[in-house]
Formats: sequence, structure tokens, C-alpha cells
Amino acid sequence: MNAEPVTRPIRTTCPYCGVGCGVLATPLADGGLAIAGDPDHPANRGRLCVKGSALGETLGLGGRLLRPQIGGQAAEWDDALDLVARRFQDTIAQHGPDSVAFYVSGQLLTEDYYVANKLMKGFIGSANIDTNSRLCMASSVAGHKRAFGSDTVPGLYEDFETADLVVLVGSNLAWCHPVLYQRLAAARDARGTRVVVVDPRRTATCDIADLHLALSPGADAALFNLLLAEIERRGLIAPDFTAHVEGIEAALAAARETPPFSTGLPHADLRRFLDLWTGSEKVVTVYSQGINQSDSGTDKVNAILNCHLATGRIGRPGMGPFSVTGQPNAMGGREVGGLANMLACHLEIENPAHRAVVQGFWAAPRMADRPGLKAVDMFRALEEGRIKALWIICTNPAVSMPEADRVARAIAGCEFTVVSDIMAQTDTTRLADVLLPATGWGEKDGTVTNSERRISRQRRSLAAPGEARDDWRIIADVARRMGWAEAFGWDSPAQVFAEYAALSGVAGALGGDFDISDHADIPEPDYDAMEPFLWPQSAGRRGGRFFHDGRFHTPSGRGRMIAIRPPVRRAADAALPFVLNTGRVRDHWHTMTRTGRAPRLSRHMAEPFLELHPQDAARLQLAPASLAEVESPQGRAVLRVLVTDRVAPGHPFAPIHWTGETGPTGRVSALVPGLTDPVSGQPASKSAAVAIRPFPAG
Ligand code: SF4
Repeated sequence: MNAEPVTRPIRTTCPYCGVGCGVLATPLADGGLAIAGDPDHPANRGRLCVKGSALGETLGLGGRLLRPQIGGQAAEWDDALDLVARRFQDTIAQHGPDSVAFYVSGQLLTEDYYVANKLMKGFIGSANIDTNSRLCMASSVAGHKRAFGSDTVPGLYEDFETADLVVLVGSNLAWCHPVLYQRLAAARDARGTRVVVVDPRRTATCDIADLHLALSPGADAALFNLLLAEIERRGLIAPDFTAHVEGIEAALAAARETPPFSTGLPHADLRRFLDLWTGSEKVVTVYSQGINQSDSGTDKVNAILNCHLATGRIGRPGMGPFSVTGQPNAMGGREVGGLANMLACHLEIENPAHRAVVQGFWAAPRMADRPGLKAVDMFRALEEGRIKALWIICTNPAVSMPEADRVARAIAGCEFTVVSDIMAQTDTTRLADVLLPATGWGEKDGTVTNSERRISRQRRSLAAPGEARDDWRIIADVARRMGWAEAFGWDSPAQVFAEYAALSGVAGALGGDFDISDHADIPEPDYDAMEPFLWPQSAGRRGGRFFHDGRFHTPSGRGRMIAIRPPVRRAADAALPFVLNTGRVRDHWHTMTRTGRAPRLSRHMAEPFLELHPQDAARLQLAPASLAEVESPQGRAVLRVLVTDRVAPGHPFAPIHWTGETGPTGRVSALVPGLTDPVSGQPASKSAAVAIRPFPAG
């Protein structure tokens, strides 16, 4: 082994969470990479968390998919691409455009996403392209659109450091966005920033909390309604700002009706929270999956946004609501329309003027004119035989989707399934008719957008292994074979980015907020050298915050407060008495196809587990480290018991990462029902009704 550097460090971006840290990757003589934080990247200023710092340990050829496969046999690229194009064409010809679908990923680069979206929405003529980001932040997108008229995060990371109070709602920032947590912890040490954590679980993030509100699961909207009523009672509504906001009376009326006991919090804790929030001018309210992954997730988002709109605490330094995204490029996917209900550049699929602009720009022959199937509905349509050809790109839905067993059966039963992946053996690749080897992090070039709207380059520092190709190129190759050579004729990701930036300029002229048209027709050397930048980036506007000036993107130009009536929680079913919360652990990522390769990352949590309150463990006669069988109407898992009082009685927690292959059956998503938020279509992944018993049964 020779670990000597062979070139200078290459500046790139971490492929894990939405913080979007800059990474210096130095190629070594032994073929590996030395990894360090990029001191010049504004997101992290040299910091990395353990996942980012272990990136070099997740490389290597072991387990990689190196050649295309057809029916499990190695195949030539031309044969595989011809087959994919022909089967999609035949299916469309026989059953129509809506009989095919793409299921993609928040880990694709923006250029990959743009090409997939263009092919499906503009050329196939269906909007059946959805993404695993639907499981992550769709409720935030829907909440933003309702309140602001656009999917816009108003603030910046530096607001975490200049706020007087940071409220983290349904966000275990310490484990899921560690570098942002480090920035907040440093600000707290330096400036005395107050921190409140709102979470039924006592997570690692509570280590820096002045106040932990262990509210009843699902009571977030009630909490923020109570806050809104308190804001009114204290005379803190900002009339100069609310002159630019609609719906305030209805929102206040709903807030006044919220029963004070509906959060399950001790009165003193609730009072302290209300005092802290209303008593702090500079407040940032951060929210994540604990808000989004709910059957009322969009309402929860709007309950938070209401409080910031009522007080005008938005888009100013140290103030505002802030959605932190789970995936490295959930934001980039949103920008290029990688959700079934959006067009590229934040344009709306149901708006004829928006459709006409995109269709004209693409010279698209067959533009989708209505939303496609969102993730859960897409796999239901697959199960019912309405989707007959499916292309899964860079994601592992047989493990990660709610009702994962049902999803795996639906994929297995599909007439024609294509999977593009970097790994040969995942629960999903095993179900494919055609497997296409993709390049992974370190092997591909493109851009990603982090949670604060900052676009950064991912840069290639390693050669593509075997016959692996970039996702944008694979999709474009199929499109060319389907007859659209000119529209998909790019030679590089720089050309894709330039086209997309040009489209953003046309979209921006319609009054949207997303515009990076200064990068239209960017020459290749400038793309290679591109520094991280915030959008928008056009002749008219560069970066910054949104909405402090009372200008919104709704048709009326005014912001919208939404009347929120928190749902009445159902009583637990006697046969399924536990409500299972799911989430991430600190050192693993999604279904572990990458982090599972670094032994160091398994030291923190080595196997799937069920975190159970001592009262529940005693009642079920489950000793620490024994095995428990967890069952729901959707599936079953066997998990190691971890007894802690960090969870509430009746509300156990289990992580999502493991598959059925590693010891006890850890496919926790198999337990989660396909219940979704009615506005966003995001699944309620944190409230599965389950039964728990010792395993094996006594
Ligand atoms: Fe990567 Fe997120 Fe860790 Fe930064 S905080 S190094 S982006 S996983």
C-alpha cells in the first residue's frame, strides 16, 4: 500500500446529509483518497462529521456493479441500453405514457436529475417521476408553497449563529446534520444562544438544550398554534409585516381554539417555551423529519411558518423558519422538478403558462400536463399492474420505502424493471431485469444544493470502475435511442448545467424566485472552477434572504397564514398498542450500501435495535440485549432490545438502515404503513402501530 498523494487535493462536496460540507479529496498512490474538510467551503469551514471523514474508507471495488447485466448475465452496454429503450418505447406505444415510471434519488446530482426529469416530463409525456426525497422533505415543499407561493428556504446557516434562540423541532441535528450542530454548539458557547429541542425522544441534540419539550408524538401543530395564540395575546403581531400576509384572522381563530393541554407537556415547560420564543426577537425555528414524516406534516410546517409570518421574524439576520433537508441533493432535485408534481426551475405543472415555457424551451414533443404518481402511489400502481416498466435510479426502495415487503413484491412482479446502481447486490438490484452500473461519489462530476440554497460542485477524483457510467449519460443514451438525439445530445455535465441555468432564466422571467441564469452557457473551464454560490444568481439578484421585504411569490404577492386544526389522535389499537418512531443513527446512511463498507462506522451502532422504555420492557419481559419481534399489519422485524428512558412509554424507536441480511431482520420500513400526508404525499414514517413480543416466543 502506498498512501502518498499523487495530486493536489480536489475540492468536492460530501454525498451524505443536506448540510453539504466541502471536502478536500486527495488521490493517493494506492488508488484511495485522503479526506479532509474544506476550510474554504462556507457550509463547514473545514469541519467534517464522522461519516464525512470516513468517506475514503467506503471506496474500493468490493461489491461494486462493474458491468451491465440482463437477466442476471453480464451484457454489453449497447445491448442493455437498446433493450431499455425498446421496452420503454413498446410499453408507451401499447399502454400510454403513464404506464412507465422513474423512481430516483436525492443523492443524484442535479445534472442527473435534470436529464431524467426532461426525458419523463417533456419527451415521454408523463410526470411519473418521483424520488426518495418524497420520504424526506415533501411536506416542507408543500408548506413553503402554501405560505410563500414558492419552495423557498428564507434564511441562511449563519442565522443559526446570530439568533438569540434556536428551536429545533423534530430534528436530531446532532446526529443527522452534525456539522450544523457543531456550528450551533459553538455559537451557544460563544454567545449564549438559547436552544430548545422539541422532540418526544430525548436525543443527543438535547445535550446542548436549555429546554427539552418531550411533547406527545404528533402534537407539534398544537404547540405552534398555542404559540401563535400567545403571540397575539402579548401584542407581538407585527402589523407592518402582516399587511403583506393573507389569512391571519382565520389562522388566529384556529390557534385560539387549540386546547392548552393538547401537547402533553407540563404547564411549566410549555410556559417557559412560550416565554422564550415570544421574548426573543431573533428566533430561528429549525425543523426536519419529525415534522415532515407525518400524515399532517404540511399542516405542522405551516403552523411553524404562521408564527414567523405573524411576527415578521423571517428572512432577516438571525430570524426565520428553517427546513433542514435530509439528503445531499434534495434541494437540487426540487430545483430541476424531480418531484411528480413540479416542473423544472420551480415552475408548476398545472399552470399552462409554465408548461408552455418549459415545452418551448425544450422543444418537447409531448409535455406532461398533470402531476404524476407520488412515491407511495407509484408503487401501489406498480402492484396493480398500471405501471408496466419502472426505472429505479440510485436508491433502494425494497428496503427504504414504507410497506417495504409490499414494495419488493410489486417490483418483483413488474413486467420490466431497470435498476441503475453502484452496488451489485442490494435488496432492489436483485429484483431487476436489467442492471446498469453507475459511477458513485468521487467518480462523477456535477452539482448539488444544500439546505441553505448553496450550489456546490461534486468533482471527479477517481476513475470510473469497470464499465460504470455517469447517470446523466446513461439516461441521455436511452433517450437518444428512443429517438430524441438532439435534445439529449450533451457531451458533459457542464453542458447539462448550462442548459438548466438558461431555463432558470426563462422561468425567472415569469416571476419565480429560482434563477441562476448568470450561469447559462457557462464554459466548461468555468464550470470546473465554479465556487459554491447561493441561489438566486442572476443579473437581478444574488443570494441573500427572502421575504423580509413582504414580497412573496403567491399570485397576490402576499404571504399566506394557514388556519391549522391539529388532528385528534386516535386511541391505540389493543392489538397494536405501540407507536413506533423511526429514524437515523449517527454513523450510518440510508440502507448502508456505502457506510456499511467502513467498519469504523459500525462501531457506534453495530446492529438494528429497538429502543424501549423500561416500563414497556418490564411489562413485555424483555431484558436488555434480548431480541424482540416487532409486527405491524405491513411486516415484521426482529431487533435487539435497548432499554432506555430516552423514549416515552408506548413509543419505542428503531433505526431505518439495516436490511434483512445482517443478523436479525432489521428492515424497519417494512413495518411502516403507506399512510401519507394528504397535501404533500409524504409518508408518515414515525408513527407505525405495532405489537412487540419476545423472540423467539416463550
Ligand atoms: Fe457530510 Fe453532513 Fe457530515 Fe457534513 S455534516 S460531513 S455533509 S454527513
